[in-house]
Amino acid sequence: MSAKIIDGKAISQQIKDELKEKTAALKEKGIEVTLAVILVGEDPASQVYVRNKKRACEYIGYNSLSYELPAETSQEELLKLIDELNGRKDVDGILVQMPLPKHIDEKTVINAIDPSKDVDGFHPINVGALVVGDKGFVSCTPAGVIQLLKRGTDGYDISGKECVIIGRSNIVGKPMSLLMLRENATVTIAHSRTKNLEEVCKRADIIIAAVGKAGVITRDHVKEGAVVIDVGINRSKDGKLCGDVKYDEVSEIASYITPVPGGVGPMTIAMLMNNCYEAALLHNA
Ligand code: NAD
Repeated sequence: MSAKIIDGKAISQQIKDELKEKTAALKEKGIEVTLAVILVGEDPASQVYVRNKKRACEYIGYNSLSYELPAETSQEELLKLIDELNGRKDVDGILVQMPLPKHIDEKTVINAIDPSKDVDGFHPINVGALVVGDKGFVSCTPAGVIQLLKRGTDGYDISGKECVIIGRSNIVGKPMSLLMLRENATVTIAHSRTKNLEEVCKRADIIIAAVGKAGVITRDHVKEGAVVIDVGINRSKDGKLCGDVKYDEVSEIASYITPVPGGVGPMTIAMLMNNCYEAALLHNA
């Protein structure tokens, strides 16, 4: 058996096209969507991410405000800018590109963003809303995984399935587990201290790998017919982009699998764009 590929590029395009249409309809009612993106320093990867976010805004029809600040920017200056953007009626979403320079405390910065503009879904109020099942912004990568499962698996039903998530970070693993719980999966979170990872993973109908280590998930971790979602973005020894899953061998036994690149990656921006749209609705309700 060879797994069907879940095409993140196509699904993210579909989501962006849906948003483009909905945004045009909002514009007719006089409502515009605006995302403010803040980048501190000159990290090349962050610059690429910020550029891609601006491009996505342009494509959908959002306004994007861009603040590219020098690496020496103080925490106070950054907080002052966030405060100003919090107060602006024409700004729906505020995104501070992570990682920040070492002298700035990321938690303090995240906590300073108005939760109704926290389109990354990192603010404790939004995380708390997810925990108790209230409405709020959900972290974009895990939200993207849910869309891949819903749109990319020919109607595969998540409810009641055994799901093993590998990784427990605040931006991927933890919110991912809460979202899968919301979809009525039976959820296990594995991490660096998990004993017998192979055995734990083998129970899974759905495996979501968010480790950040090339090839840690092999065919020995995967039950025949499992759905395998690879969140990892790594560089292999020969410099190629690859995931956490050994794609060639796992795709022989999985039922569905996401490739890297072209799987989860493109979904993150699509879901960020979705959060911006939701923020504009919230601010114009
Ligand atoms: P992280 O480093 O914060 O967390 C990694 C997690 O993996 C930790 O909870 C740790 O306990 C676990 N872990 C580490 N080694 C392990 C092992 N040998 N066995 C089992 N668990 C182990 O990373 P993160 O921010 O959650 O990101 C994870 C991966 O996802 C990275 O490759 C990152 O680049 C990628 N990522 C992709 C996107 C995207 O848009 N596709 C977004 C965010 C992160």
